[in-house]
Amino acid sequence: MSENFIPLSKPSLQGNELKYVTEAIETEWVSTAGPFIQSFEENTADYVNSTGAVAVQNGTSGLHIALEVIGTGREDEVIVPTLTFIAAVNPVKYCGAEPVFMDCDDSLCLDPNKLEKFFEKECEFSKGILRNKATKKQIKAIVVVHVFGNMADMESILEVAEKYNLPVIEDATEAIGTYYKKGKHQGRYAGTMGTFGVFSFNGNKIMTTGGGGMIVSNDNELLAQARHLITQAKSDPLYYTHDQVGYNYRMTNLQAALGLAQLEQLESFIETKSINYSHYQEAIKKIPGLELFSFRSSIRPNYWFYAIKVQSEYGLTRRELIDSLEQEKIQARPIWDLIHHQQPYKNAQAYEIEKAPIYLNLIVNIPCSSDLSSRDVERVNVCLAKLNEPTEMGSDQY
Ligand SMILES: *Cc1c(COP(=O)(O)O)cnc(C)c1O
Repeated sequence: MSENFIPLSKPSLQGNELKYVTEAIETEWVSTAGPFIQSFEENTADYVNSTGAVAVQNGTSGLHIALEVIGTGREDEVIVPTLTFIAAVNPVKYCGAEPVFMDCDDSLCLDPNKLEKFFEKECEFSKGILRNKATKKQIKAIVVVHVFGNMADMESILEVAEKYNLPVIEDATEAIGTYYKKGKHQGRYAGTMGTFGVFSFNGNKIMTTGGGGMIVSNDNELLAQARHLITQAKSDPLYYTHDQVGYNYRMTNLQAALGLAQLEQLESFIETKSINYSHYQEAIKKIPGLELFSFRSSIRPNYWFYAIKVQSEYGLTRRELIDSLEQEKIQARPIWDLIHHQQPYKNAQAYEIEKAPIYLNLIVNIPCSSDLSSRDVERVNVCLAKLNEPTEMGSDQY
């Protein structure tokens, strides 16, 4: 029982992290100016092939700024998924606007068919403006989340968005590195197809700056507005004139030093994650009642999070599975609770939410760190299989 603890997701800092952070400290550029910030922005934009990038404090602040630049205000509504981490939704409220919750499809991401149906049946479209019939409020934008490093159905979502003249903000916080391998958007990265895309470099994401984020766009004018807003909307650096209420959302040079080193390793992280995914896949397909969640076939995913669907055939409930793994020092976790059920959003409009509650009750996330060893994957696989055989379970475990 002296096995090591296997966390759900932890950072891997084996590249140039120490070197670059040391350089930031030795040169005393540790705050919101310094050369690593620009390099990190340029390299990220290069990597995902966007026109530009603006580094920010975290993914949440990036999403907030994207909504602000688009002009989201008190009279507006924004389409959001209900199956997501809550940080995709809260920024709508920061702008004083209201969210309208949508269901997911089988990719766990926003369902484009229900989106279109909602616009067709429940909204009025006139003179390029879409209004919710129930509230008379203008629908201002669509926030799409690329859940677990999968890709939402961007082909369909962008078509619907275009038809109704709506900007799309891609919450690509979990999906840096995911791109279309084929189809209409072949070669395009998650985050670069909408008006704005936002990445997160929180400690649990595929690459980390401790805490941090990045806004990307193909529109330089919009990126300039974003940069202005995150810099306290300072329009004259000498006389300190400000033309708007801005924010202090800039990334520090210390964070960017970490980020630059992490970005250098991103492809190797994805490679490791892809190999570990296959090893999980091989073992899990042999276990009755368990299924490893698969990514959309038209994409190269970044394999950020592994999700298993736990069916009743497995013999253990989702909760029992999580608890049993914990006893084996393996961290697992259920998917997020739905956002339209959360206290601050109980009165918000939610449209035909049917699939999200089903997936909510099926999914467990299992260890997925970027440097997870094959030995640890094997240990998880053995546990998953063993837990399925009731006779081998010592009664003292329960
Ligand atoms: C992590 C995450 C965010 C927020 O990013 P932070 O950097 O933690 O602020 C937003 N949306 C989703 C879906 C996330 O997973």
